Amino acid sequence: MSANILVVEDEPAIQELLTLNLQQAGYQPLRAMSVEQAQQLMREAVPDLIILDWMLPGMSGIEFARRLKGDSATKTIPIIMLTAKGSESDKVRGLEVGADDYVTKPFSPRELLARVKAVLRRRAPQMTDDPIEISGLRVDPLTHRVTGNGSAIDLGPTEFRLLHYFMTNPERVHSRSNVLDKVWGTGVYVEDRTVDVHIRRLRKALETSGHHDLIQTVRGSGYRFSAN
Ligand code: CA
Repeated sequence: MSANILVVEDEPAIQELLTLNLQQAGYQPLRAMSVEQAQQLMREAVPDLIILDWMLPGMSGIEFARRLKGDSATKTIPIIMLTAKGSESDKVRGLEVGADDYVTKPFSPRELLARVKAVLRRRAPQMTDDPIEISGLRVDPLTHRVTGNGSAIDLGPTEFRLLHYFMTNPERVHSRSNVLDKVWGTGVYVEDRTVDVHIRRLRKALETSGHHDLIQTVRGSGYRFSAN
């Protein structure tokens, strides 16, 4: 479940540096040299995060950010603005249009990756590889290990993804169609009740450590992962 990161940058050397570093960090970078190209790519796949240069040929990055944040279909995509402009007022403008973070050129790839990770953790926690633990139930996306109070729990790949998604989005009610989109992916044809089948398997696997009650059925709505 590595995150797709769209890099919109017109300077080839910087774009190369960014995509290389993102790839090495396990992300899937998509490249665009202009807003127009970015829009074309986004018609095929919605990225999990956008790294957006301010100064671009044609439409500026800041204008693009404003449009993305003003459109209900794209407003939740996190944006990191990238720019040579370092003054305080530019920074304020960038954040005002809804950018999630701001990195000034020249930047170190390490710093940028740290920002990417922080933004994803805040905005799309299911996209990071950080282990997560709730009430003694622990999931490690890197090793695919699950433990309940320290004992190993054996899960199939779908149950693993389900549990990871729930644990990174706790306390919210997830409809079956939302779960299908997030865990199976959009454009995959699976019936809603398939979700119920995998939830049942997941609960069964969690019974040994007594964690099955964390997955609650919300009548008429879907499911909720709750430690309360
Ligand atoms: Ca530029």
